[in-house]
Parts: sequence; structure tokens; C-alpha cells
Amino acid sequence: MDTLPPQAAPEAGCHGGRDTMLAAAQAAGKTETMAGLMRDYPRGPHDQPQSMCPAFGSLRVGLRMRRVATILSGSACCVYGLTFTSHFYGARRSVGYVPFNSETLVTGRLFEDIREAVQETAKPADYDAVVVINLCVPTASGVPLDLLPRQIDGVRIIGIDVPGFGVPTHAEAKDVLAGAMLRTARQEAEAGPVARPQGLVEGEPTIALIGELFPADPVGIGALLQPMGLSVAPQTPAREWRDLYGALDCVAAAAVHPFYTASIREFRAAGRPVVGSGPVGVEGTLAWLEAVGQAANLPASRIGLATARALPAIQGALGANPIRARITLSGYEGSELLVARLLVEAGAELPYVGTACPRTEWSEADRAWLQARGVHVQYRASLEQDVAAMEEVRPDLAIGTTPLVQRAKELGIPALYFTNMVSARPLFGPAGAASMAAIVAAQTRGRERFGRMVSFFEGVGTRDGAGYGFAGKPADPPGFRERQRKLRAARAKAEEAVGS
Ligand code: SF4
Repeated sequence: MDTLPPQAAPEAGCHGGRDTMLAAAQAAGKTETMAGLMRDYPRGPHDQPQSMCPAFGSLRVGLRMRRVATILSGSACCVYGLTFTSHFYGARRSVGYVPFNSETLVTGRLFEDIREAVQETAKPADYDAVVVINLCVPTASGVPLDLLPRQIDGVRIIGIDVPGFGVPTHAEAKDVLAGAMLRTARQEAEAGPVARPQGLVEGEPTIALIGELFPADPVGIGALLQPMGLSVAPQTPAREWRDLYGALDCVAAAAVHPFYTASIREFRAAGRPVVGSGPVGVEGTLAWLEAVGQAANLPASRIGLATARALPAIQGALGANPIRARITLSGYEGSELLVARLLVEAGAELPYVGTACPRTEWSEADRAWLQARGVHVQYRASLEQDVAAMEEVRPDLAIGTTPLVQRAKELGIPALYFTNMVSARPLFGPAGAASMAAIVAAQTRGRERFGRMVSFFEGVGTRDGAGYGFAGKPADPPGFRERQRKLRAARAKAEEAVGS
């Protein structure tokens, strides 16, 4: 009897086991897709996402684009979580969903359902593109989105696989969709005339910024570039389809967020040089303006004009807003190293920076700069590594993800959610230099208050002993922990015996 390939059960998911899901996906014909994801988004010490479902990154990129419909194909519980999060973040539009069950999955009917949904949605009066996102189970089951029509009545159909067992962070999932769209747009532009990007100024060379930035940042970067005669191209991820052509039309691309591997591949395929890092602090801005100017083939005198105008203002802002605090920094946005540079230039003592994103050539300059100043840089940092660093350093301020902030507060350490810090204020140029100090000062002032809170709650149950509805501190049933310990030891022994 033939051996059946491993099947992804409809209820499998984040907790179904990465190896099982991967084996199922490969057996179902997704070997090439999975190899591509592995190449673009290499894994690190942790193999499972430790933040929200990665597909949220792709979903968000689709939802933020004008005249783009987004359809999810996945388990209902995943889709519930993803739509909930989308609306929490103000999506204000519908997320399409093609449901499935064991039968439609196994018989291939799901693919037909997706095709019908796409046919129904792709109306040129409403949309420029329809995005279909395969979540974990449809990817593991080999639902072949590449067999969807590439366009229907001029509406592009973009099908992507974004499984949690192949894309480690939601940051990188943004790149999966941004890269797929750039690829289509590049092929269209190569094939013939395309729609004119909005706001295009003929003859004005532009720089395409890669990464989701605080809205004022592209404007600030535009001011830094202006003395060189450069302006800012539409950003990646784009806000509307024709912006993709505008971005590809740049003279050089700037990988401000360094994990957009697929997008960068498209810029390179279009013949555009790509520079890494970003204009943070005095040294970062100097190096970045020089790199951008050289990539744009500008004479040294023009580059000198830009640096002469930008640097004194940044120097002044940093001098006027010094940071005197010991800080640990971690996050999953991809801009952690840039924020770290700015903090260090402003005077912070920063022993540790962790990023959930991988090491790429686009953050090499930042890594080298930080390490030369004694900062430990941890790529693909796990939550455990971030927490261990914070516990060891005992900083005046811990900046990190939600669970890290929670742990810091338990210890009485002032803490700040990274995303709130970077998404609510500028990071680049003089504006970035001025904005960081105020928030650090405001947070570290609370240290004494945190200490009081810890002593006030001393003795109240924590971790598995925490909860509501107890008259006193929750207590374990007698002997419970010891019985569990013995059970675990017996299980481990049995597994060892099977392996030998
Ligand atoms: S799609 Fe997201 S939520 Fe669903 S199983 Fe995969 S990683 Fe988990």
C-alpha cells in the first residue's frame, strides 16, 4: 500500500508543530515556496513566531492600499483573530474570507471556492488588485494560488502563501506582499506603458524609502535630500497600485527597514542600487546621505551641501536633549538598531538591543557602529533573550514588546512598548533627535513610583498564581507540582527510549 503524504488537519495551526506543517506543505507541492521563504526569512534561535500571527503583516499592507481587496484563506479561528486585529488598528474595510472544512480541503474544492471569490471580487470599477493570502493550513495543504488567473478584466490577482511556519515575524510578512506586488508592477512596466504615478515631477530624481515609517519621517527625509536635488519616491509598502511604478522609477532605493528582502530583490531587478541604514543621529545621517548621494551618482559637492545643512541641526537637537539613562531595547518592527543608534548618540547607556528580525546586509553598518560602542546586538532575539538581558542589566528604562514590558513592570522597572515609541514620533533627522529624549525622561521619572507599586502588591499572586476570584493567594493542591514533575520526567524518559 502506498504511504499517504502527511496531511495538514484543518484544526492544525500555530500549535500543530512546525515540522508537521512543513512536511505537509512540501508533500503537497509547496517545496519551492517553502524554500523561497526559508531563503528570504531565515530562522533564528526560535522557530515559531513569538509575536502576533505573521500573516497580519501581509493583511495590513493590503488593507492600507487604495482600491485593493484582500481575501484570507485559512482556519476560521485565525481569520477571526486577524480581522479583529485589523479592525482594532482601524482597517475600516471588509476582509474577504473563503471558509473551508475537511472535505473542501481534501477534495480541492477550496481552490475552486477561492477562484469563484476572486472572480466575483475582481471588478475594475472597484479594484486595481485582489490579494489572496493562504494562511497556515491551506499552505500546508498545497492550495495552489499560483494557478489563479494573473488578472481578470485588468484587475491583478496576487496570491501569496504566508504560513506561520515559514515567515517568522509579521514584519517580514509585510515584505511577502510588498515584494509580490513590486514584482507584478515591475513586469508590467517592463512590458509597456503603465499608469502615471501621482505627483510625479519629470526629471526630478527620487529615492524610494523601504519600510513603514512615521508619517512625518518621509517629509523630514525629503528635506534632508533636497539640497542634493533629490526627492522622495512613493514608499514601499505602497498606498496605491500606481505608486509601485513611482517607487521602481527611483534612482536608488533606501532599505530603511532592513528586512524587505523580496522587495529589495525587485528594486535590484529593476536596476536600482540599494543603500542600507537610515539618517539617524549625526553619524548615521552623515553616512546615509553620503551613501545615497553616491548611489545617485552625485558629485561630492552636492552631497556636501546636504550634510552641511543637516548635521548642525541634528547636533543641536541632540545637544539640547541629552538622554541620561541606562536602557535596554528590543522589538519586532525592524527599526530597533536605528532607534538604538539614536539613543546612544543622545547619550544613553545601552548594553543590549534585540530584534526579532534577521541579520541582513542592510543593517550591517548599524550593527558595526553599535558593537564598536559596546552594545550587544541580538538578531532574531527571542523573548527569553530580551527578558534575560533586561533582568541582568536592570535598566532605568526597558523598551520592548508587550510581554517584556509586563515582566519589567513586575520587577519595578519603568518600561515602554517599542511600537508605541517608534510609531508615534519621528525617528530621522533633527525631528528624530529632538523627540526621543522627552519620552525617555518622562518614563524614567516613574521609577520610584514603580518601586512603590511593587512593594504595595508584594505577596499578591504572580504568574500561574495570579487570578481573580480568590479570597487569598492561590495555593497549589498538595503534591500537585511534585506529581507533575514526575510525569514530565517519565515522559522525557519514554521519549528518549523511543529515540534510542
Ligand atoms: S495563520 Fe497565524 S494564527 Fe493561524 S495557525 Fe498560522 S500562525 Fe497561527
